[in-house]
Amino acid sequence: MAKDICSFCGRSDKEVSLLIKGISGFICSDCARAAYEIVEENAAHKAAKKNKNDFDFAMSELPRPHDIKAYLDQYVIGQDDAKRYLSVSVYNHYKRLTQERGDDGVEIEKSNIVMVGPTGTGKTLLARTIAKLLKVPFTIVDATVFTEAGYVGEDVESILSRLLQVADGDVKAAERGIVFIDEIDKIARKTDNPSITRDVSGEGVQQGLLKLLEGSIVNVPPKGGRKHPDQEYIQVDTRNILFICGGAFDGIERKIAQRLNTHVVGFNSVQNTRNLDKNNLMKYVQPQDLKSFGLIPEIIGRLPALTYLNPLDREALHRILLEPKNSLVKQQKKLFAMDGIELEYSDEVLDYIVDKAVEYKLGARGLRSIMETLMMQLQYDAPTTRKRGDKLVVTKEYAQQQLENSILQEAASGL
Ligand code: ADP
Repeated sequence: MAKDICSFCGRSDKEVSLLIKGISGFICSDCARAAYEIVEENAAHKAAKKNKNDFDFAMSELPRPHDIKAYLDQYVIGQDDAKRYLSVSVYNHYKRLTQERGDDGVEIEKSNIVMVGPTGTGKTLLARTIAKLLKVPFTIVDATVFTEAGYVGEDVESILSRLLQVADGDVKAAERGIVFIDEIDKIARKTDNPSITRDVSGEGVQQGLLKLLEGSIVNVPPKGGRKHPDQEYIQVDTRNILFICGGAFDGIERKIAQRLNTHVVGFNSVQNTRNLDKNNLMKYVQPQDLKSFGLIPEIIGRLPALTYLNPLDREALHRILLEPKNSLVKQQKKLFAMDGIELEYSDEVLDYIVDKAVEYKLGARGLRSIMETLMMQLQYDAPTTRKRGDKLVVTKEYAQQQLENSILQEAASGL
């Protein structure tokens, strides 16, 4: 009988510590280990190559502002102004990254953006949607987790740790990235007057953030969290990182109204206050309103593009149910289609869902929980009680019955 030997190195079981049997041969422990290393190296190499390609681009293949907006239109309803601002900023960001430096002395400066708008109107959705299209590393962070150095919480530098992680540790790629800072309004200082006492949640964090926005070399703890003295840092240059900020700025309308009423002289002022859209003062937002709200002037100066989001009216909510590429209605239809059941909603039921979202004051965010509550029982029963090929129409009566006994309704009546 032939001796058992490793099919790779030819050694017998006497010469190696272990010989593993396969269908038509053997592999020894040494060769298995070597093979494992080759597999790992190859995977790492492929990943590095992929990252490089992901974040490498030529101007000619980039989406133009119109393309970016058209893409956003597929997922986000309305908010045209914010979409245009975002599209242009992202496109300019790419341009800056590819600009030839020094030949004509003109250097395109970055134009960070701030989006102001009520909660649940699509700020984060816009940021997430644009992320899918981007050719540079992108991350979303929440400003509320940051505190001034020395207090419990995260240092602002951890924003860059996140970006580094997204870029798989590639510092050069991270330095070209885009960061969305959500809830920027939450780090506003509480009064318009600079405080003499320390303001843990506000001004100190703004100062920290300013360093990043301005463009400087920042020491970043590779794994995020708090900085501590004997840690090794990675140096990241933030000059080319684009920052997009978003915030609800609750109550800023009052500041805008005050300004519009008192400030009637000057080129930019609204001369005829009677023509103002009083229901949506947000659209008149100006940098000085952010200052009145409590952002320090230096930060405002670093966020030159200021845009707003509209509150969502009934029509917008209705469209949100139906139109986005992955709208709630489309998702439900798909769920039922997988059981072979055709699902339909009567027109009235959609109006009813919108009514409830308005009643619960949950905006677009509420649509999802209402839809879940409404569909729970059907999702539970239909796969058993219906057969493939059945058609199911959700009526307003059914919706009323489901929702009015629900916890959601109880919670709302307790509001
Ligand atoms: P915020 O403005 O507070 O960041 P989000 O973007 O997180 O609000 O919106 C919450 C949810 O509401 C989103 O995930 C999305 O499902 C829905 N939504 C909000 N605004 C829109 C919109 N303009 N178009 C489509 N869906 C929206």
